[in-house]
Parts: sequence; structure tokens; C-alpha cells
Amino acid sequence: GGWLGLLGGGQLGRMFCHAAQSLGYKVAVLDPADECPAGMVADLHIQAAYDDEAGLARLAQTCQAVTTEFENVPAQSLRTLATRCRVSPAADAVAIVQDRIAEKTFIASQGIAVAPHAAIRAEADLRAAPDALFPGILKVARLGYDGKGQARINTRDEALAAFAEFGGVACVLEALMPLDYEISVVLARGFDGASVVFPVARNVHRDGILAVSTAAPVQSDAAHAERQARATEAAQSIAQGLGYHGVLCVEFFVLKDGSLIVNEIAPRPHNSGHYTMNACVTSQFEQQARAMAGLPLGGTALLAPAVMLNILGDIWYESAQATQQREPDWAAALAVPTAKLHLYGKRDARRGRKMGHITIVAPTLEQARSDAARVAAALGMQAPE
Ligand code: ATP
Ligand code: MG
Ligand code: MG
Repeated sequence: GGWLGLLGGGQLGRMFCHAAQSLGYKVAVLDPADECPAGMVADLHIQAAYDDEAGLARLAQTCQAVTTEFENVPAQSLRTLATRCRVSPAADAVAIVQDRIAEKTFIASQGIAVAPHAAIRAEADLRAAPDALFPGILKVARLGYDGKGQARINTRDEALAAFAEFGGVACVLEALMPLDYEISVVLARGFDGASVVFPVARNVHRDGILAVSTAAPVQSDAAHAERQARATEAAQSIAQGLGYHGVLCVEFFVLKDGSLIVNEIAPRPHNSGHYTMNACVTSQFEQQARAMAGLPLGGTALLAPAVMLNILGDIWYESAQATQQREPDWAAALAVPTAKLHLYGKRDARRGRKMGHITIVAPTLEQARSDAARVAAALGMQAPE
């Protein structure tokens, strides 16, 4: 036992707390909110800003190791903490992945493909951007998530308008890629040099937000299996190139022509790895706790096929027009015996807000899919694709 620390109080932090506590550790969470998903279950909630000197000092004093649950923590805070205790992710890695321009440059420097793109720091960059980037997606370089700070644009004029709308902050313009499907790889690297990889997840997004992740044994489909192997290898070389310790996720696009490109890196457990909580020997959160505590990393084997459905605040509303909220029928979803529910303890069920997830674990992928459809119907969610 001992104390592990966490910068950030969201749902990823909450699930980290649960995992660390199961291993006999106490967790201190630093987050400015007085009520946050992780703060509610932590052993200590230090209510302070992410760059607050006194708060960071208290966290470092209390804990043998500190990690984060979102990538937008100030890199300087990680640097300060690292002079006093073990820290993951390292400030240098975070500085790269929290800036889409630096991130894409780094990935390409590792010999791994990214979408054709241009750094947009001023209107002149947009006027000079190659025609091949239209139609495209303009993304703010920093602080975007769940598709926020992104605009799909068809023309240069639309891009100029979107750039102005974002307030002229640094952006990346990416070509709109012909996606066949999306996959992600979660891996963990211990401070002892050990490294493990979780099974590849296949992901479906709706409105820029992850909706469904599926994990299944490597398929008999040779082309798909080969892509999974390539993605796993690319994720490992990215982590190695970053000199990374802890849990990391790499999101990939599989294009219509079968080629693979990296979309982005998350320096932490990832929504697409939530299935590991119920379907793998070790969850991604336990893996993060083990890495921080200096314990051996756990096995990552998939115990059974799994389908994870994200639960957004939308299902608290009867219809698209409804203004009145009502609690979803959890009992109806849990009547499906393969379903495992995880709620994050958020009070305000806003539309588009991640409130929880539900994972269906079944003997076959076919059953996991059909049970997931039953769960979705029970909760009034769109059927999983
Ligand atoms: P996250 O919550 O994963 O951090 P984000 O806000 O950083 O999301 P991205 O991962 O960049 O957003 O994009 C969200 C989704 O939008 C992608 O998963 C993909 O479905 C779609 N998308 C993003 N970039 C492109 C692209 N260049 N071409 C086609 N689709 C794209
Ligand atoms: Mg992102
Ligand atoms: Mg993403």
C-alpha cells in the first residue's frame, strides 16, 4: 500500500481510484471542482487549480507517484511534481501530445503516417494551404476533445470563417480522410522497462464522440488481423519514441484502401479501453496503478468478446425536443445478463456529456453484438453499428 496521486477529477480518474484502491493504495486527487467524479471516491481531494504551487506540493508530499487523467494539465505542473516524486506521463511527452501540431510532427518523425495536414497559425497559412486539404477538418491545436473545437469545412472560405470563429488560435487543417473504420491500441510501459499491449479495439464515433468500442479475438479475416498487428507495432514504437512510462492510447484510422494512419495519441487510459475493465485479465486502470506503484504489469488477455456502449446525457431526455430529465431504466438494461454498468456519479446529465458506459461480455462476438442491441434498446439509445 501507500498513496498514489492524480491530477484531474473526471471519470477516468474515478475508475483509476477504484482500481488503485482494490490494490490496497490510497488515492489523492487534485482538482479545482468541489464535486467531481474522482474527488467523490478519492481518499483525499485537494481542491486546487492544476498549477497551484501549494496544492502540487501537498500532492507530492502525500504520494509516492502522481499521474494524470487528462492531457490538458499544464506540462509545467508535471515538471514541478517530477522533482519530488515519480510522475507519469512525463512533461515532455504531454507537451507533444497536447499540441496537435507537435503531435503530428512527432508521429511523422517516427516514420508513421498521419493525415495530410498544415499548421494554421494565421489566416495567411489558410490561404497558402494546399488544395488537397479541402474538404477537411479544422481542429484547434490545443484543448479539444470529444470533437469540440473542430469544424468540417468544404472550402477555403469556410475554413477562414471557422478559424475566425475559433478566435484565431493555432489550429491544424487536416484533409478529410476516406475512413473504412477506426481502431485504437492501449498499452502500458512500466518504469522497470516491461511493456504490455491490450487487444485492439474497433471504434464507432457519432458526432465526434466515441459511441461503441468492440474487442474480439484476432479474426480469421487475414487483412484485418494484419492491420491489427501493424497498429500494435506502431503504437509500441510511438511509446518507445516518446520514452513513455504508464498507460497510453493511440487512435488509428483504417482507410478505404487498407492503409493505416495515426489520428492522435492520448497519454492515459482511454475511453476505447473501458472494455478491459470487464473483458481482460487486468483493466487499463489497474495497469496504470501498477505502473505508478512500481508493481509488475498484469496480463492483458481478452477473456471474452466485448462491446462497450458509451452512455451520454441524451438518454436522460425522452426525445430530442424534451427539456425534462428522467432517470434511464437501468434495471431494463441490467436484465441482460451479459451487461455490466458503470456510472460516473455526474449530477448534471447534459446532452453529449459522458455519464457512464455499459460493457457487454459474451461467449461469442455475435452474442455480444445482439445483447448490446438489446441493452441499447432498453436504454433508448441508438442501436450499435
Ligand atoms: P477525442 O475525444 O478522441 O480526444 P478529439 O476531439 O481529439 O476526440 P479527433 O479524435 O481528432 O477528436 O476526431 C474525432 C473523430 O472525428 C475521429 O475519431 C473521426 O471519427 C473523425 N475525424 C477526425 N479527423 C478526421 C479526418 N481527418 N478525416 C476523417 N474523419 C476524421
Ligand atoms: Mg483527442
Ligand atoms: Mg480522438
